[in-house]
Amino acid sequence: MMKKELPKIVFATNNPHKLEEARAVASDYLEILSLSEIGCHDDIPETAETLEGNALIKAHWVKDRYGYDCFADDTGLMVAALKGAPGVYSARYAGPECSPQDNIDLLLKNLKDVTDRDAKFATVIALIKDGKEHVFTGEVEGTIATEPHGEGGFGYDPIFIAKESGMAFAEMTQAAKNEISHRGRAMRKFMKFICQ
Ligand code: IMP
Repeated sequence: MMKKELPKIVFATNNPHKLEEARAVASDYLEILSLSEIGCHDDIPETAETLEGNALIKAHWVKDRYGYDCFADDTGLMVAALKGAPGVYSARYAGPECSPQDNIDLLLKNLKDVTDRDAKFATVIALIKDGKEHVFTGEVEGTIATEPHGEGGFGYDPIFIAKESGMAFAEMTQAAKNEISHRGRAMRKFMKFICQ
């Protein structure tokens, strides 16, 4: 039997982990294309001051220049004692070319002797579909550890202790993290909408 042609949508990322996660859920409904698969090698500016603003910039960039319906995500770690920092600047907290370890080191330094360690991760997914904007959000609460734990995950995972598990994200399996994580929650809302 001929394979049915699925509607195509672009995920404004080249992150293989994010692509694999999205394709696993949507494979019966949509063909998800990466930026490189549509020939987009642009350094898309993330100049907004909110996660939603940046996610919308990325999704519109693809729709306007490449013509595809598109979704894009943006994530930030908000630390209460730092008035919500690093927030929208989470990826480049320690500078434009910094590594995840640089970001962790700076955050631990800025929280040295600080007892209020409350923090949350938030993800916003923006979708442009059939000329309309849609936004989906997900959050997870936790605390910032005083030192790194675990071997898994990425980014700030070794120092983010999720309230619901009592463990650092880097100590949890991918599946267990995905159940409660900011991105997992936002992705499930998005997928429910897009696959209906
Ligand atoms: P992005 O918007 O997905 O690129 O995320 C922005 C920054 O937040 C990344 O550079 C990561 O350092 C961090 N980040 C995003 N998601 C996670 C996560 O699930 N765990 C730990 N750090 C994350």
